[in-house]
Amino acid sequence: MSYQHQYVDGTRIHFPLGKVVCIGRNYAEHAKELDNPIPSEPLLFIKPGSCVVPLEGGFKIPTERGSVHYEAEIAVLLGKSLSSNASEEEVLDAISGFAPALDLTLRDVQAKLKEKGLPWELCKSFDGACVLPPFVSAASFEDLTDIPVRLTINGEVRQDGNSAMMLNPIVPMIQYMAAHFSLQAGDVILTGTPAGVGPFTVGDELVLELPGVCRFESRVL
Ligand code: ZN
Repeated sequence: MSYQHQYVDGTRIHFPLGKVVCIGRNYAEHAKELDNPIPSEPLLFIKPGSCVVPLEGGFKIPTERGSVHYEAEIAVLLGKSLSSNASEEEVLDAISGFAPALDLTLRDVQAKLKEKGLPWELCKSFDGACVLPPFVSAASFEDLTDIPVRLTINGEVRQDGNSAMMLNPIVPMIQYMAAHFSLQAGDVILTGTPAGVGPFTVGDELVLELPGVCRFESRVL
């Protein structure tokens, strides 16, 4: 199913899907669970727009390339472009909405790539590797340093984080990203995953939420 940006009330968002700029190891507890050091500078990678699929109605995962890990993350939708020296105010003004997203990762493939010091596209950028629900308008969020995100699988809470725990908070993170890549309306930022990542199995039923703001049910097909 093809993806198009929209808000939770069903309003279509007019700008097209761009790229997905991601940060790795942005929660200390998650870096620890995978035995990774905490990076001294933000660890960035990009997923192409082609890997984005909608959450609603279920989504498919690859079944022949080892484990597919879920990473529940707060996604930020940009509605304006940002240049390399974007101010805090410009970043805030450019944010159109927030949503809980899934950064899917072929974890066994990633382990091999990491071992060899190779780039991550094979484990992070496959078709279906970014799962997005509709966005909630940024106007509903007062404090960007206190946004909860939670993933429940088959009735069990697996990830329960909050932007308060981020090593790089949302606004300075986006400034850092903009300093390295032009950001455009329609681009999505994935802000890193809290602890609790693990493998998906076909048939898993999940609830992905920004608790108190929005809640989506889906399943692994
Ligand atoms: Zn991630």
